[in-house]
Amino acid sequence: MGKREIHFCEKCGHPTKREIPEGDTHERDVCPSCGYIAYINPINIVGTVPYLGDKVLLCRRAIEPRLGYWTLPAGHQEVQETTREGAERETEEEAGIHAEISSAPYILLDIAHADQLHLMFLARMKDESINPGPET
Ligand SMILES: [Zn+2]
Repeated sequence: MGKREIHFCEKCGHPTKREIPEGDTHERDVCPSCGYIAYINPINIVGTVPYLGDKVLLCRRAIEPRLGYWTLPAGHQEVQETTREGAERETEEEAGIHAEISSAPYILLDIAHADQLHLMFLARMKDESINPGPET
């Protein structure tokens, strides 16, 4: 992933300018017309490590990017959603398993080069049934 930039102001549509706003420490995309500052921060990826006994369930990606790669059920946290709710939703959408999700995250991974923070919860599967979604 390359450097993320906002080229047009999301408030008024004017082309933005790259600069360090007064009192700030980082370059931002600033609107010279209305003064709006676009902050770009890491994206939360939430998901689970589903397990049953001593086995871990992996999902094989059915879509790009990384088609065919094995992964954990995970995706973007939505606004107005807790990390745990997002992990539960993504696990349901991608794996369709019956599982009990841990109350606290099990793994926290900083993927700084991709501007992502991954939070994975443990998901104790109740049985072997799966119902993979279209991404899996
Ligand atoms: Zn503007």
